[in-house]
Amino acid sequence: MKIVNLDTKDRISIINITKEVEEEVRRSGVQEGLVNVYTWHTTTAIVINEDEEGLSKDFIAILQRLIPDDIFNYRHNMIDNNASAHIRSVFLSSEVTIPIKDGRLWLGHWQSIFFVELDGPRTRSFAITIIRSTA
Ligand code: ZN
Repeated sequence: MKIVNLDTKDRISIINITKEVEEEVRRSGVQEGLVNVYTWHTTTAIVINEDEEGLSKDFIAILQRLIPDDIFNYRHNMIDNNASAHIRSVFLSSEVTIPIKDGRLWLGHWQSIFFVELDGPRTRSFAITIIRSTA
């Protein structure tokens, strides 16, 4: 398992981590298997989608509209004022798993892997775990 640290710069940001994952798959030498990318923070997420600046802004705008920061009287805000970030994280995912085929990530042409910061800026981490196929 490889742990990757990153410093996020904004409250909400979408960071393309595909190169880090590709590099770890290449380094492993695994030809067929699975790679899992996982974040253990409760106010972050890992997603797969297209890396297009306008789409990233649309995604953030929709997250903020669907799960507003301050419309509801969030009980968790009495503790650390980030209930909306936790709830946004639940509606996304803490991990993705991608097939490895012929020694490479089997991503579609338009697919990239993103670390999603929902309560930054902070220092964050994610894990890359690779499993070799025995079949
Ligand atoms: Zn909290």
